[in-house]
Amino acid sequence: MKMTAPAEYRANATPLNLPEIDESQIHSIMLGRVLSIGNSSQIAMLIAAALIGFGVVGIGNEKLMWLLIAVQAVLQRVVAAVNRMLQRKLDARQPNRLPFALFVFLKGLTGAVWGLMMLPVVAHLGSGPGPLLICVTLIVTITISAMLTTAVWSISVAAVTGFFVTLFPQTLYFYDVLGPVPLVVSLVLSPTLIWITKEQSKQVRAALVNELQNERLALHLEDALQQSDYLARHDSLTGLLNRRAFQSKLSELRQEQPEAAISLILVDLDHFKAINDNFGHESGDAVLVSTAEIIDSVTRPDDLSARCDEATARWGGEEFIIALVGCPIEAAASVSERLRVRIAAQADPKWPDGLSVTGSFGVSLWDHQEDLAVGIARADKAMYRAKISGRNQIELAAR
Ligand code: GH3
Ligand code: MG
Ligand code: MG
Repeated sequence: MKMTAPAEYRANATPLNLPEIDESQIHSIMLGRVLSIGNSSQIAMLIAAALIGFGVVGIGNEKLMWLLIAVQAVLQRVVAAVNRMLQRKLDARQPNRLPFALFVFLKGLTGAVWGLMMLPVVAHLGSGPGPLLICVTLIVTITISAMLTTAVWSISVAAVTGFFVTLFPQTLYFYDVLGPVPLVVSLVLSPTLIWITKEQSKQVRAALVNELQNERLALHLEDALQQSDYLARHDSLTGLLNRRAFQSKLSELRQEQPEAAISLILVDLDHFKAINDNFGHESGDAVLVSTAEIIDSVTRPDDLSARCDEATARWGGEEFIIALVGCPIEAAASVSERLRVRIAAQADPKWPDGLSVTGSFGVSLWDHQEDLAVGIARADKAMYRAKISGRNQIELAAR
């Protein structure tokens, strides 16, 4: 049994004050989410490359396109490898700044290569379905690529920026052939994509913060419930069970062992009021705590010759009660004697000089056919006999 309540349970109740959510934790979770969809985004990129390969047949500048597709394929493999490395680092909670920076850089590079893939067809836009298919595929691909990584906005920005950096000069270079539309589209597309991904990123983040806060709240509530359950069952000064918890524990023990002999020991400290009056209420409290510790150590099952189940409680102000299950009254009497001696011998260097304590004991056998209150009343009567007979002694109740 725990003698004193855990420190956090004894703390005064404070208003709900959950700790701030750690930014690095948010970043790690969001990055983890981006990395976990790495494989699906690879498949999307492969489909895009295949479509582009299909669209380029017969255009003329096929060699350059196949070269760029090969470069993109290699880049995607490298991105996948860095993805796995980052994931391992995240799982192991190791620092990941460098691989993260490399990942962002590579995403930028893939964006740039997607943009470069316009080069073999840009001058042929309008001359058949192939170049148009490639153009649309590239724009959709970069959009998907940016949207898949919005949880970590810097990755989306890197991809879109890379795309813009290689696409924009082409729209200028081929201005005479293309006219102003591609130039305007590329100028509008990139900031729009960056803005959309930023908004998306904010939403993902807000949802995550909400999720983390709910988790914390649930943990806090669980803790508070355990705390209030503990406080409802224990005496706050001594850490022993209180009266109600003792009664319910005894009825449980009775149900488990309906025929078992259960001895009840009632202990009342002698002249306790005088201890308070002469040495102060704090000294009185210290005596109660120390006595509870003695009761707990003496009645612990290991300490008993007849290994009984037990329940110990603070019954009232300076009264304690002990139930020994499966323990005949004679064994309870010898436990009481050991307790009586230990209580009378207790001393603490911090206590004022002259403070001494004794207790009077009443022991009864609780018949399984009678109410607990009847068994306790008989122990109480016996205890009063011990008081009348001069205190610091044990009386057994007649059956
Ligand atoms: P007796 O030997 O007849 O039992 O005398 P007593 O003085 O022990 O009994 P009485 O019932 O007259 O006084 C009990 C005292 O215990 C009165 C009360 O102030 C004190 N008391 C009850 N609870 C606490 C507590 O939590 N702390 C302290 N310090 N005193 C307490
Ligand atoms: Mg009393
Ligand atoms: Mg008393």
